[in-house]
Amino acid sequence: MTLHNKYPTAHYRALDAAHHVHPFSDTRALNAEGSRIIVKGEGVWLTDSDGNRILDGMAGLWCVNIGHGRAEVAEAVQRQMLELSYYNTFFKTSHPPAIELAALLAEIAPARFNRVFFTGSGSEANDTVLRLVRTYWATLGKPDKQVIVARRNAYHGSTVAGASLGGMGPMHKQGGLPIPGIHHIAQPYWFGEGGEMSRDEFGLWAARELEKAIDAIGEDKIAAFIAEPIQGAGGVVIPPDTYWPEVARICREREILFVSDEVICGFGRLGRWFGSEYFGTEPDLMPIAKGLSSGYLPIGGVMISDKVAAVLEETGDFNHGFTYSAHPVCCAAAIANLEIIRRDKLVERVADDIGPYLRERWLKLGDHPLVGEARMTGLVGALELVPAKPSRRRFEGDGKVGLKCRDFSFRNGLVMRAVGDTMIISPPLVISHEEADELVRLAARTLDMTHDALK
Ligand code: PLP
Repeated sequence: MTLHNKYPTAHYRALDAAHHVHPFSDTRALNAEGSRIIVKGEGVWLTDSDGNRILDGMAGLWCVNIGHGRAEVAEAVQRQMLELSYYNTFFKTSHPPAIELAALLAEIAPARFNRVFFTGSGSEANDTVLRLVRTYWATLGKPDKQVIVARRNAYHGSTVAGASLGGMGPMHKQGGLPIPGIHHIAQPYWFGEGGEMSRDEFGLWAARELEKAIDAIGEDKIAAFIAEPIQGAGGVVIPPDTYWPEVARICREREILFVSDEVICGFGRLGRWFGSEYFGTEPDLMPIAKGLSSGYLPIGGVMISDKVAAVLEETGDFNHGFTYSAHPVCCAAAIANLEIIRRDKLVERVADDIGPYLRERWLKLGDHPLVGEARMTGLVGALELVPAKPSRRRFEGDGKVGLKCRDFSFRNGLVMRAVGDTMIISPPLVISHEEADELVRLAARTLDMTHDALK
């Protein structure tokens, strides 16, 4: 038993089952099994309530970029709480943490991004996007430009607008989603959906689905296209090389806004500050969250390009905001986090050092008999589990093999997530070379155990 537990595991589990409804969980199944209780985080390591050490291969939920337990952030938060624990930024007021964070973001973002609207989360950021893009066109005298094109299997959050922009079937089934005015096109998922096309052919085809949608719906009806640089929750879908240049061409040629959802890919995950910089696209808006504060406190926002900002100045009141927009303590946590990322050169480290180091070793897992494809960009990667190589045919049974693999992984002391039969990782950017070796060793052992269990 560690010092971090007030109660024994069984007692926590009983209280959790009795009182806590978990996100994205089957309550009855979870309570039958009992939840895993995490009591401590340090660097890339978690400790559970039974004292087991687990390598956090997912950086929490793709967010703990600087690793767990950094004292600098805790100290900045404490200082800010004692100085000004809360004030809002409505009605012509502001405060130093909001102003300093906004200026810092303008400094690290591409030159045309000089403004930010703060939210409490990535979902709220995408709700803000929906209202912003429609307001932008209405201000320009084009109120019919309302439709937002998004992609199937994308994830843009869990609020009504976020889940509607997202393309997750199971989410749409609950609560009558998507809301009107959102049109989903194909995702650039070659391994799962590329059929007989080569990767490059498929990348062009998937990009041109955007052009086809614009032609079918009418450019005069479309407000924006929204996409993640790499689809994260959809299974780390790394587009073929031909995809983003073609999408960028279409966005340049057509009168629509382009929104790059940087909630996962922002703040160093791909070895650049923003995923759109990695792929060379030029978004008009960038929703951000997660790595903005490394998850230490909840904060998100929308980075607004000069082009959009100039129009919004003509709008008058933008009737939108959250009690916790630019919460001073969350802003202080974000500033401390960004200072660590800059000082420790974590973005450069992903590009030139740990990113290539882990990638080389991760891709070797592609030789395993269970793995149809291993892929990784920056520090985000996936393994496609298949019954028979080299075919891209999937297992019967709707992700059961992935879940088995995920459970073995936890037992082996590694957090890997399963999206269907795709295993994914997104470790903290501070992971050391030795820890990266350990991650790959644990993943390999997990694959062996899963493979044996299928015999
Ligand atoms: N956008 C993307 C790309 C995400 O991955 C997520 C969360 O995983 C969100 C938006 C929603 O962010 P949040 O969970 O902070 O609301």
